[in-house]
Amino acid sequence: MSQNRRDFFKTSGIIAGGIALSSFDNSFFAKSFPNKSKSSKMKLTFRPYTLELKHVFTIATSSRTTTPVVLTEIEYEGLTGYGEASMPPYLGESHDTVLKFLAKVDLTNFNNPFELENILAYVDSIEEGNKAAKASVDIALHDLIGKIVNQPLYNIWGFDKTKTPVTSFTIGIDKPDVVRQKVIEAEEYKILKVKLGRDTDREMVETIRSVTDKPLCVDVNQGWTDKHFALDMIHWLKEMNTEFVEQPMPKEDIDGNAWLTQNSPLPTIGDEAVQRLPDVIKAHGVYSGINIKLMKSTGLREAHKMLTLARSLNMKVMIGCMTETSCAISAAAQLSPMVDWADLDGALLISNDIFDGTKIIDGRVVLTDLPGIGIKKI
Ligand code: MG
Repeated sequence: MSQNRRDFFKTSGIIAGGIALSSFDNSFFAKSFPNKSKSSKMKLTFRPYTLELKHVFTIATSSRTTTPVVLTEIEYEGLTGYGEASMPPYLGESHDTVLKFLAKVDLTNFNNPFELENILAYVDSIEEGNKAAKASVDIALHDLIGKIVNQPLYNIWGFDKTKTPVTSFTIGIDKPDVVRQKVIEAEEYKILKVKLGRDTDREMVETIRSVTDKPLCVDVNQGWTDKHFALDMIHWLKEMNTEFVEQPMPKEDIDGNAWLTQNSPLPTIGDEAVQRLPDVIKAHGVYSGINIKLMKSTGLREAHKMLTLARSLNMKVMIGCMTETSCAISAAAQLSPMVDWADLDGALLISNDIFDGTKIIDGRVVLTDLPGIGIKKI
């Protein structure tokens, strides 16, 4: 009897003024009958910010003194997850493109932040590209989830925080006097990353060697175009106590990079060639390892998968960064106990960080015990 009565009221409820509501589409229903269960508890906000670099930063293809970023927040039940998009100009995103993309992100269909796979698959489907913008949502969501369960991500993933690597410190291409000064300032770091790929390569390395004999790693940023020249350089760099060479030749030269890797006395690492998960398969046999960056991978969800895939293919793994605040750096650092090398100096290169998080102490990545990505606002 009571079941029949409920059915009666239910049936009456979906007939209004003789019109069956089923004749209207979902958007009409959502607009006309705001339904509490349909309004998301997650609120995404974002704002542009510009990072000031301590030194002019020069690599093989460009020079700059600032980096545009966008800072995101996802609020949920009194907790706030922080995220960040960093847009070095050569990657094609900008304040404008990231703000436009984030304005399209509609979380109203999601009420549970733990639906990470669904939410981030939706964000990824909004539009092609926009990798840094997507990362800024991914990082904020991961931070939020960690805060809800009150655990740092490295704990959730089962990583050992005592196994974090040392980080390299990047020395940009510059005049010998400036390079010497930068090397002296980088005394704390156990390994220096040298940007090569111009006609001053040997001079750069010799200048550094006039100040220190600590190990180097080299990032050519696709700057060598001849594989025999590249191999000669790598043999010479090995004599100069170099550990590995990142993106020695243009990413399009797959055969050249594969030949170089096969013959190289040092490991080669694909960076520009390896953006997202499917690129790890393509890099297998072409490079000895991959450089994972959150701004390329669309964030932590895919970065974690890339790490697992590369490991299963017996490839080396490096975790890198752009110039970023301690927000995105601390997020990337959560993965660092599982990598061979870290290049997480991005927050050290800027003078206006607004977060306190992962520290570099005595050259090593040191994770905090704070939940999520492990940061506080300064
Ligand atoms: Mg690189």
